Amino acid sequence: MKVGFVGLGNMGRPMARNLLAAGFELVVRDADPEREAEFGGGADSPAAFAGCGVVVTMLPNERIVRDAIVGWGIADALAPDAVVVDMSSSNPTGTKALGHEIPVSLVDAPVSGGVPRAETGTLSIMVGGDDEDAVAKAHPVLEALGDRIFRAGPLGAGHALKALNNYLAATAYAATAEALAVGEAYGLDPATLIEVVNTSTGRSFSSEHVYAEHVITGRYGTGFAAGLLAKDVAIAADIARSAGIDTPTLELVSRRWAEAVEEIGPGADHSQAHKSWYATVPH
Ligand code: NAD
Repeated sequence: MKVGFVGLGNMGRPMARNLLAAGFELVVRDADPEREAEFGGGADSPAAFAGCGVVVTMLPNERIVRDAIVGWGIADALAPDAVVVDMSSSNPTGTKALGHEIPVSLVDAPVSGGVPRAETGTLSIMVGGDDEDAVAKAHPVLEALGDRIFRAGPLGAGHALKALNNYLAATAYAATAEALAVGEAYGLDPATLIEVVNTSTGRSFSSEHVYAEHVITGRYGTGFAAGLLAKDVAIAADIARSAGIDTPTLELVSRRWAEAVEEIGPGADHSQAHKSWYATVPH
């Protein structure tokens, strides 16, 4: 099957490589020609996507997904039985609207596992969709990218689940920054604090990977931008508000990450956010 792939960034690049390794013929597109050049050049017009059975998008947000699929014209170039699979972390409200707008089926299939698991083809994938045939058509592509594929529910359900997961990750990161700042004021060594937490009940993905591997070492290279995580928490807050559920922790964490992005910039690695909240650097 010929597959289209739009968005060759930190995640999209290794994912597209895995599709090539799995034997799919690929048509790629990125706004940055240098990224396209890594794949021998990108599509110069939407018509290049005409023969694709599946088109994957791995873009910053739902507005950019719409720009690429509707604005640039890929949707109109596709055969009626083609499927667009949005693997970005998008706002499910935008996903549902896009599903009604385009003439082909849309499936949402956001991922978790970050760049390391994008590289090894072992992402967790959360699938939302209303059209079972479209989901089945997307499956071989998803299987080449991840090893845990969950059926989340109707269109938008994958994106909702992804936003909620990242809200929890962002909360653990922010709470760990506070614990470090308080610990440091108490004379505790940050590396020791993180080491102990990581053998104790306070541990999280954030303490085990983001803090131990990127903050304490000063590496700050998770490959996940602060602006993208702040966006995810804002999506979760948006969903909560739409559902009329009072979520004070979510509102606070969303505000904290928005402040961090203002301070360190949206493109900074998200592991640097603690610097925006506390002056001391724990390494
Ligand atoms: P990135 O910023 O590294 O990559 C985005 C790519 O999209 C860039 O190459 C950019 O040039 C391209 N692009 C932007 N606008 C475009 C357009 N209109 N048409 C074509 N290409 C365009 O982002 P990323 O880290 O790869 O994340 C992509 C998505 O995956 C985001 O929704 C993010 O939230 C999600 N995500 C990221 C991670 C991670 O660890 N980085 C993990 C899980 C999910």
